[in-house]
Amino acid sequence: MEIKDLGEFGLIERLTQILSIKDHSVLVGFGDDCSCIDIKGEKILFTSDIQLEGRHFIKRLIQPEDLGWKVVSVNVSDIVACGGEPKWGFISVGFPKDLSVEYVENIYKGIKKACDFYKMSVIGGNTTASDSIFLDLFLTGKTDRFVPRGGAEEGQMLMVCGYLGEARAGLEIAMEKGLNNLAGYEKRLIKRFSRPTADIHLSDRLSRYASAGIDISDGLVADLYHLSKASGVEVILDKNKLPVSPDLKRYCQQKGKDPLEYILYGGEDYKVVFTVDKRDTIQFPECKVIGFIGAKGEGVFLKDGSIVKKLEKKGFSHL
Ligand code: MG
Ligand code: MG
Repeated sequence: MEIKDLGEFGLIERLTQILSIKDHSVLVGFGDDCSCIDIKGEKILFTSDIQLEGRHFIKRLIQPEDLGWKVVSVNVSDIVACGGEPKWGFISVGFPKDLSVEYVENIYKGIKKACDFYKMSVIGGNTTASDSIFLDLFLTGKTDRFVPRGGAEEGQMLMVCGYLGEARAGLEIAMEKGLNNLAGYEKRLIKRFSRPTADIHLSDRLSRYASAGIDISDGLVADLYHLSKASGVEVILDKNKLPVSPDLKRYCQQKGKDPLEYILYGGEDYKVVFTVDKRDTIQFPECKVIGFIGAKGEGVFLKDGSIVKKLEKKGFSHL
């Protein structure tokens, strides 16, 4: 059998069985956005995420400074999803030997800007020569209360901040047109892909009010399937409440495409979807209710008026 026969999540399941965790200070191990350890009453979060040339980015379609910013943001997003604040990072990098010093420095300028923005530090790392560029950040954080994927309960509201699906549209534009001679809305969509900003402003309130959370890296539906499975509940999206960005609308009009496809399956948005009791939705005035948690079970559904249909479990798999 080859690893592609298992798929990303099948492989993870087999490998985590080998590494069975016996340490009682580990509050959360594999299977969530972060792992969590109790150190003398403090809850410390751990996560890591990589940006690999040819897999996560194409060199000519992203500025090096954006790449540095992005590798930090995708990791911060996982920390935020667990209700945490990012603290200390450790970065492993690989570069081809003929890469210019200026290019590498610009990556690090992007990393530094992101560190300042998120109030965290990268404090160490490791360097190697490599055929393609990779940046692998290991990030720690702290939280007062760990927000898991598995805490959603029937009747709770599902919320998100900002627009979904824009990053996918941005990637398509960059692939088709490159980075020059673009309209304003096209530039903005590309930025959503190449320079995403994690929902850091939500961290504190998520740890106080959210019962469950996950960041949308593989696509709304794909990631909600993880939340649904972990929580043992059905997740119902309300079609008429999903916010459609004006830029995405414009792009889809031009291309004759349906914005809903992008919103449901786009991926790489790095927004946190979370669940709260109805009375606590007022704690998140800048966010929108996009659905609710249904009965015990599993599955992600789309409600359009009185019609409810199950959504296909497709999304981005890394293998
Ligand atoms: Mg995640
Ligand atoms: Mg991640």
